[in-house]
Amino acid sequence: MKEYKLLTPGPLTTTQEVKAAMQFDHCTWDDEYKQITQTIRKNLLKLAHVCEKEYTAVLMQGSGSFGVESVLNSSIGYNDCVLILSNGAYGKRMVDMVKRARLSFIECAFAYDEIPSAARVEQLLKENPNITHIAMVHSETTSGIFNDIAAIGELASAYKKIFIVDAMSSFGGVDIDMKQMHIDFLISSANKCIQGVPGFSFILARLHALKRCDGIARTLSLDLYDQWKTMDIDGKWRFTSPTHTVLAFSEAMKELEQEGGVKARCARYQRVHARLIKNMAKLGIEPYLKAHQGWVITTFYYPKGHTFSFEKMYTYIKERGYAIYPGKLTSADTFRIGNIGEIYEADMDALYQIMKEFLEGEKQ
Ligand SMILES: *Cc1c(COP(=O)(O)O)cnc(C)c1O
Repeated sequence: MKEYKLLTPGPLTTTQEVKAAMQFDHCTWDDEYKQITQTIRKNLLKLAHVCEKEYTAVLMQGSGSFGVESVLNSSIGYNDCVLILSNGAYGKRMVDMVKRARLSFIECAFAYDEIPSAARVEQLLKENPNITHIAMVHSETTSGIFNDIAAIGELASAYKKIFIVDAMSSFGGVDIDMKQMHIDFLISSANKCIQGVPGFSFILARLHALKRCDGIARTLSLDLYDQWKTMDIDGKWRFTSPTHTVLAFSEAMKELEQEGGVKARCARYQRVHARLIKNMAKLGIEPYLKAHQGWVITTFYYPKGHTFSFEKMYTYIKERGYAIYPGKLTSADTFRIGNIGEIYEADMDALYQIMKEFLEGEKQ
């Protein structure tokens, strides 16, 4: 099989060392293995600038959505009501999750190119004192927009609401101070900006909020409280842990530190993203967002008057070493390019050359 790099928002291109770390069959009962889990948990808290006295990290089997579903199902009781702010598919997915769990919710939907307005949220909080939780996505991977979690966190704190943030595609690539932003539950996963491989999600939780989750979950395997209770003893996972993924993640955490931590990784992603935008502009390809564009993934309009299909462009680019991503908007014809993972400016220049050739071929 011909190799290619992933310009997708997870799974993403990992280093050889991260892949090599998986060449070991670890025993889950083993002290050394449990210690790896404990170290990961400690270091995740450091990335979020919080301490073990007030916060904890829980690892959860499954992809990122399992983590989000775990938090929603474990923290929202039958007498609670969650306000979900949506401006993309991942916000909508939270709505689907609470519907399945038959929980009370209010959805406040915004256009996909608009961030949730703090003024509108405050108005809703005033009108609906029954709201107990606020849930939102930080980096909406649907469009690539960065939502203002700090502003909504201020409101959550002022109105004493539990604040849940899906920071799946931003944590590790954007500096997030969990306490300063008043986040009670933050969810991300192994295969996004930490640059590990898929297999588990992780939840950073304020202990005070987590301790209130005892007995709330209506799911056994996704019970965040039970998962924490077991894992917190000595790092043993409640059910079979994804051992190879954990080893890869441990290596990925070390590499993040070697790179210079979240600030350095963030700076690299920003540089690579800036190069991407510049290169696409040279091809007459414009980004969909006019404001609040994040540096993780970008939605682009096709060049004016194009007639080729996404599949044709995708295949052409893939044969030359890169995988791009289809668009996820219903309102406009778009495609997406992610720039997280083991990706550098040189990759953006290589992509530019490939796309230039492709577009020139299409014109003839
Ligand atoms: C990737 C992602 C998820 C999780 O998706 P999975 O396919 O379940 O891993 C959730 N929210 C956002 C914003 C994401 O980017």
